Order: sequence, then structure tokens, then C-alpha cells
Amino acid sequence: MIHKKNNTFLFFSQWFNRSKEANLSYSTMSIIIVMSISTTVAEMFGLGIFLPIFQYMKTDGDLEILVSESVVWEYIISIFKFASVDISLLALLFISFFFFLGRQVFTYMRVVFKSAVTYRLVKELRDKLFSKYLNADTTFHDSTSIGSISNVIVVESIGAIQTLMQPLEMVTYLIMAIGYLSILFLLSWQMTAVSIIVLSFASLAPSVWIKRSSQVGRGLVKANIKLSAFLLARLKSPRLVRLASTQQAEKDEFNRLTQNQRKKSTYSSILLARTDSALEPLIIGLSLIFLYISYTYFNMQIEMIGLYLVVALRMMPVSKGIISQWQSIQSSLGSMEIVENKLDSMEVSKEIDTGVLQFNKIKQSVDLLDVSYCYPIREDDALKNITIKFKVNEITAIVGPSGSGKSTLIDLLPRLRLPKVGSIRVDGIDIAKYKLKSLRQLIAYVPQFPQIFDGTIRNHIHYGKSDASSEEIIEAARLAGAEDFINQLPKKFDTELGEDAVRLSGGQRQRLDLARALLAHTSILILDEPTSNLDAESEEMFKRVLTQIHKDTNTIIIVISHRLASIVDAEQIIVMNKGNVEMLGTHSELLNKKGWYAEAWTMQNPITK
Ligand code: ADP
Ligand code: MG
Repeated sequence: MIHKKNNTFLFFSQWFNRSKEANLSYSTMSIIIVMSISTTVAEMFGLGIFLPIFQYMKTDGDLEILVSESVVWEYIISIFKFASVDISLLALLFISFFFFLGRQVFTYMRVVFKSAVTYRLVKELRDKLFSKYLNADTTFHDSTSIGSISNVIVVESIGAIQTLMQPLEMVTYLIMAIGYLSILFLLSWQMTAVSIIVLSFASLAPSVWIKRSSQVGRGLVKANIKLSAFLLARLKSPRLVRLASTQQAEKDEFNRLTQNQRKKSTYSSILLARTDSALEPLIIGLSLIFLYISYTYFNMQIEMIGLYLVVALRMMPVSKGIISQWQSIQSSLGSMEIVENKLDSMEVSKEIDTGVLQFNKIKQSVDLLDVSYCYPIREDDALKNITIKFKVNEITAIVGPSGSGKSTLIDLLPRLRLPKVGSIRVDGIDIAKYKLKSLRQLIAYVPQFPQIFDGTIRNHIHYGKSDASSEEIIEAARLAGAEDFINQLPKKFDTELGEDAVRLSGGQRQRLDLARALLAHTSILILDEPTSNLDAESEEMFKRVLTQIHKDTNTIIIVISHRLASIVDAEQIIVMNKGNVEMLGTHSELLNKKGWYAEAWTMQNPITK
């Protein structure tokens, strides 16, 4: 019992903090509570006036008897006199109707206001989650499944806000209950005492179910997350599943997950329904027993009993509401916890931007000095004491077996990952000193598998520079070798691309994305495996493009490539192996040395030389 009290106390102190965190202001809470009070007051008057109505009917409207029987009538008579209206049964009934109408207006306003607040908070929470997700560092993104984070943003956010709003609803019910109890108190204090006892008993009865609700709620959140994570991964790669002929296994696994989710959801609803159903007969039963006792032993007046019945009936959903709201809170607490958990871990992994300097242009070079990097979950370093130089107006190619650290190296330049030791300098100044945004604006990066958002071709290229003119866009497309295929599309630059641009081939996507990168005219251009999706002809074209950019701009070009033929002209070729720079030189220098490069070259070009 003490344990339970502590829990409740803890819940409310946390609730205040959470409300503050979610921007649920005291004034908003107050408005909701004031509306609840208004509803209750209107209802109390609407119900309360039935006592004089019954009395009026019993005495056939004899005002003298009525005044002598109760003080209430003195007030009623003076109010009617003030309004210069004759007292009649119709007038009294009309007043009661008027109060109920008022109650309904207040209820409507409260519901509308509460919904507006709820959805505003859900929206703000989603915005906050998304923004924190974008602000988190690469390590966080590496370790978070998009299925789980999307579930938290879309689904659990609603549950989380409900745990904030439901206590207000509970307070609403509590206020109403106090209102009803006050009427009962006016009727008879014995009745009130018994009603309170009835309510307390009723609220204890479903405590087991309520406790179970919070456990099931947490389980449900886990089930939802597992389901979304699994689903998103499979939705993204139906081809893989089909080509591997693992449809049946995937279906079975999905079936298991939906089954688990179904069980938890159903059980959660059953628990809520149990409380709901058990409370009603309990309250009615106890009320009827009390009614019997008060009639048989206390000789209560019939109009009192009538009013009591009315109040008891009205009060039932309210007292039920208090308890079932509490249970709903418990069952959605899991959602709040997972949202907080994600918010916290994203806050901890927040990308730190302590730089103050603003970039202008790179004049000479970018240097890596003795740089090592280690993935948090790995023991050995993915990059080991790397010292290299990328010069302006030069193409640097990075080659080497897969897993040798090429992509990791690239991630260090825009500070997507931070070196464990060593430093990276631009014209001699550590890049940590620059503002992240200004550093990243220096770099255009074309990944191996470009991500193309929904929208038009033009929009995609625009992503590189939002204020570019139409001419610039066409020019960038031409330079990237994308103009020809774009002009063959039905609406040319205004062609809508479906999700992930499925209608473009791999090579076309890369060229489109290259256009985006070129449009930005950045000082550093990084291309990861640009020729992996290209045929021999496009590869030739790509080489020409590269030479063209090389001549025209003051850029550092970094190309990661498996196809050595596409990078023979590079001023510098870096051969990576197991996190080390194994060799470094021009094509002919490397060919003359024994090692990975010469072997790979012979394997890829068996006839030449
Ligand atoms: P490459 O691009 O040359 O194929 P990577 O830079 O992607 O190689 O990988 C270098 C090493 O780091 C590999 O051993 C790889 O398994 C590991 N690695 C890459 N990404 C991660 C990651 N997100 N978490 C842990 N280890 C990683
Ligand atoms: Mg790679």
C-alpha cells in the first residue's frame, strides 16, 4: 500500500516535470480545469434544481408551504421576482434545461480545447524528436534502426502526450465527482459518507488490472518497435527477399511479430474493459443497497430518493472515469518512457559544434596528420595513424580492398566522425575550429547509392544550392552527363521522381546526384564509387567529366574507386589496406611497385601491358 502511494506520488511529481518539458503550460492546464469546473457547476445547478421541482409538484405549487419547508425557496422566489416572471413548473423545468445546455456548451469547449492542445503537443514532440534525430551524431545514427525511431515519432508520441493530458481529464472527473458529492452532502451527510466509502471500494477493486496495464503497455511499446523495425527493413528491400527466395521465412517472422503485437494490444484492451465493466455493477449494486437501507430504515422522502437516484446515475460514468483514466495513463506510460529514452540518448549523442571560424575558400590543401579512428563497438582501429594530403586542383583517388577504411576516412572530413587521435587541417588550421555548417558547405559528397527524395529532378539538383537559377541547374546537369537522359524524360527537369527514384537506373541516379553536388560549387568534391553503376561508355564519359571539372574549378577532388582504369589520371592514388595507407603515388609509380595496386590492375586489365 505504501509502495503504491509512493508510485502515485512519484508519478505526479514526474508529471509536472514532463508537462514543463512538453510545453504544457500552467495557463493551458488552468483553462482546461476552469472549463471542467464550469461544466460541473452548470450540471450541479441543473440537477440540484430538481429538488425544488419535486417539492413544487408535491405541494401543487403552494408557495407558502414551500417557503416554510426550505430556505432554498426564499431565494427562488426573490430571483423570480427580480426577473419579474411568474413561478411555474414550466419555468422551473426551463431553468434546469438551460443549465444542462450550458453544461453541454462548456463540455464542447473543453473537448475542442483539449484536442487542440493534445495535437499541438504531439506535433511539437514529433518536431522535437525529428530535430534531435538530425542533430545527433553519426554514431547514434549507426546504432539506431529507422523502424524504431519512426515508430517513436509517429506512434509512441501520441501515447506519450496522452499520459500528460489524461491526468487533466482525471482532474476533470475528480472535480465533477466533488460536485456530485456536494449535492449528496446537501441532501444528507450519511449518504455522502456512504458514497465516499462506495467509491473508495470501487477504486481499490481493479488495482491488479491497473498494475498489469502498465506492464502490458511497456510490452506493447516493445512489440510495436520490433514490428516497425522489421517492417521497414523488409519494405526497403523486397528484391533481396524475393531473390533469396526467403518470402516464406520472412512472412513467418512477420506473422510472429504481428501475433505478438495483437496479443499485447488485445490484452491491454481487455484489462481496460475489465475495469470498465466491473465498476458499473459495483457502484450500482452498492447504491441500490444503500437506497434500500435509507428507505427502509431512515424513512427518506421520496423526492430525496428520486434525486439521489438521478445523481447516482450521473455520477457513475464520472467515478468510473477517474479510475479508467488512471488505468489508461498506466498503459500508455510505456510510450512516454520510450520517447524520453530516445530524447535522452539523442541529447547525449548530440553533435557538438564548438567551432567559431567561418570558411571562405581552401587555398592549398587539406591534411590528415596522424589520424586514427575507432568505431565505438569495435576493438581494433578502422583507421591507423593516417597522414595524407589532399591538394587543391588535384584529383586524389582512394583505392583498396573493401573494408580497408576508405568510407570511414571520407566521413572524417565533414566531421561526421571525429578522429580518436590526430588532427585534420585545412590550410594549416584544425577543422574543429570551424563552424560545422561552414565546414560542410565546403564539401559536396556523392555517395555510392544516392538517396533521392520524392520530388522533381529540378528539386533534387536544387538540394545542392537553394538559390540556383534554371541555367545553373541545366549547366550542372550537363557537366554531370545527366542532361541527355533528363531531356528524354516525359517532363524533362520537372519529371516527378517516385520514392527512391525507382524509375532511374543506378547510373542515372549517380549522375543526377553528381549534378546536385556540382551545382554547389564546393571546394571539396567527394565521389564514392562513382563508376560502380556505369557501363563502359558512361565510364569514359565520367572520366571526361572529371577532367572537365578538374580544369574548370579550384577544387579538391577525391574519388573512391574499384575501377582503377577510371582513376589512372589522378595526381595521387592512395592505397588503403586494413586501416593503413599501404602505398601512395601516381598510377605509373604504383604499377612499378609490387603490391595490391599492381595486382589489381593486372587482374582488371589482363590484355594491357
Ligand atoms: P571501405 O569503405 O574501404 O569498404 P569502411 O570504411 O566502410 O571500408 O570500413 C572500414 C572498417 O570499419 C571495416 O572493418 C568495417 O567493418 C568497419 N565499419 C564500417 N562502418 C562501421 C560502423 N558503422 N560500425 C562499426 N564498424 C564499421
Ligand atoms: Mg566504402
